[in-house]
Amino acid sequence: MFGFLKQVGDYTRDAVDAARNLTQGLAVTFDHMKRRPVTVQYPYEKLIPSERYRGRIHYEFDKCIACEVCVRVCPINLPVVDWVMNKATKKKELRNYSIDFGVCIFCGNCVEYCPTNCLSMTEEYELAAFDRHSLNYDNVALGRLPTSVTTDPSVLPLRELAYLPAGELDPHVVDPDRPRAGQRPEQVLAAMKSAAAVSTVDAGESTTVTTDPKESAE
Ligand code: SF4
Ligand code: SF4
Repeated sequence: MFGFLKQVGDYTRDAVDAARNLTQGLAVTFDHMKRRPVTVQYPYEKLIPSERYRGRIHYEFDKCIACEVCVRVCPINLPVVDWVMNKATKKKELRNYSIDFGVCIFCGNCVEYCPTNCLSMTEEYELAAFDRHSLNYDNVALGRLPTSVTTDPSVLPLRELAYLPAGELDPHVVDPDRPRAGQRPEQVLAAMKSAAAVSTVDAGESTTVTTDPKESAE
């Protein structure tokens, strides 16, 4: 009899514990339901890609010297540089240039090593196509201007997390004029330049002090 009562007591205690834990879990769940969903409503809202985002490659035919460095540094030797040697001028003549974005891994090696800077990474990432052959961009397709999230009137551009002001997590509630946390690359560059200018001036002053014979005699 005593064992039975103990079993009933244990069961009741376990049931009460389970009910309390469930209630606590549900309270947390309902608490989350009160918050605003932090989600980007693509395609009406889009995140602005970062400065170093590696999107579709842009190519300038007029700058290319057909050196094929981009082919050699590419992990899969992807860019196709179509050129012929002009025997009269003894110079390469570029005919066509193409990159197949169905194969490209967007590593950016070609952009980094191109000696004439005719390749660059854009922020364009919407390249989906129904036919894989249409992903093989020739020099005309590579040379068109990239689409931009910030200039598309049908899109609300939102800042990525690293570009929000300190302490902010949701780009929807942030005023677009509020500066981001940290410094922008051009601000860092300006600070480095001013620091270098100051150190140059200091070095010049100290050199003047040590090399001026009158001052050193005094
Ligand atoms: S590295 Fe640059 S200049 Fe040389 S072939 Fe490639 S795109 Fe042209
Ligand atoms: S981004 Fe990388 S994979 Fe694509 S063409 Fe350039 S080097 Fe090759």
